Amino acid sequence: MIRSLDPPKRLLLGPGPSMVHPRVLQALSTPLIGHLDPAFLAIMNDLQSRLRHLFSTANRMTIALSGTGSAGMEAAIVNVVEPGDAVIVGVNGVFGTRLATVVERCGGTAIRVEAPWGQIIPPDMIETTLRRTGPVKAVALVHAETSTGAWQPIEPIGRLCRDHDTLLIVDAVTSLGGVPVEVDQWSIDVCYSGTQKCLSCPPGLAPLTVSARAMDAISRRRTPCRSWYLDLSLIADYWAEGTRAYHHTAPISMLYALHEALCLIEEEGLPARFARHRLNGDALVAGLAALDLPPLPLDEHRLPMLTCVTVPAHIDEAAVRQQLLQTFGIEIGGGLGPLKGKVWRIGLMGESSTEANVLMLLNAVEELFIRSGWLSTPGHALQAATRIYNRGL
Ligand SMILES: *Cc1c(COP(=O)(O)O)cnc(C)c1O
Repeated sequence: MIRSLDPPKRLLLGPGPSMVHPRVLQALSTPLIGHLDPAFLAIMNDLQSRLRHLFSTANRMTIALSGTGSAGMEAAIVNVVEPGDAVIVGVNGVFGTRLATVVERCGGTAIRVEAPWGQIIPPDMIETTLRRTGPVKAVALVHAETSTGAWQPIEPIGRLCRDHDTLLIVDAVTSLGGVPVEVDQWSIDVCYSGTQKCLSCPPGLAPLTVSARAMDAISRRRTPCRSWYLDLSLIADYWAEGTRAYHHTAPISMLYALHEALCLIEEEGLPARFARHRLNGDALVAGLAALDLPPLPLDEHRLPMLTCVTVPAHIDEAAVRQQLLQTFGIEIGGGLGPLKGKVWRIGLMGESSTEANVLMLLNAVEELFIRSGWLSTPGHALQAATRIYNRGL
């Protein structure tokens, strides 16, 4: 029996959760106020305007949904899709596959546009499909495919969706806060994220923004949303300043934490934050390449905050991950689905994205490779990473 909570100290360099800043942990222990208290309304308003800045949008309906990133995914689909609707879904990894599943569970038809895992969905494949299928309700894509490290271009697809008068739904769970997410400029209609990736907050909320166009489509549904808990027309009445109607009790402490995480993001500044993710991602990739661990996606489609590298067959990848955790207290991720046993997924998200963490991980991997006889001379990975850090000097 665990009589008092004392989890081990870990350095979180997996696909989420990421490290959390002490100020965010402190915010979690702030005394509660009621979720209908006028003072809480002021916090919600401020949180909304910070989220709008982060999503680069003027959307009124910009909120933090109760639940993890998957709740954001489910809300996006269950509100937009009615039974019989067709939705084009980009499928090139775990999360695109899930999007298609959710569309089908909502009674929709998922038209899958597939690409091999590790690659992006070419925008012209979406265009061809839009032309071939005729009107569809929406196109749904994953911006940052966390299962493969692929970075999906969204802007050209946003233009296509406008031309074909279809809604664009984008999963920005891993991308938000690590690379630009330009909701208005890219014509995204529904965009959702999660708190435990590049926002460096514990899991539990799904930032969500919905365009007026999409809210209009939702209000014109022929059938009520099949989920009562995630019904955005009801949730909008809680977040709207005029109504503030009780729907469900807001997870107050989580909203405190997200608010503090957004303050930290604004203090750093988005351009500096994106540059930090890019630099540390590049240094990690250079270091891993020196250990013969090449990235899965092409360089131009490689995410900075999630590095997916192929591990050669002679290396016992699961044993190394276990040693990293047990000996060094470092968590990294393994492969999912068809990539199980073949790749590592290393997250440098939010607070986890630092030079010290990159060098610590590379050093630990080198050490374990030497102990197992897979490497004879140490130092190459750190040298390669250091060259990236010294690039600008
Ligand atoms: C993590 C993740 C999700 C799911 O988020 P949870 O917080 O685990 O529910 C969805 N999409 C992508 C791209 C993710 O990386």
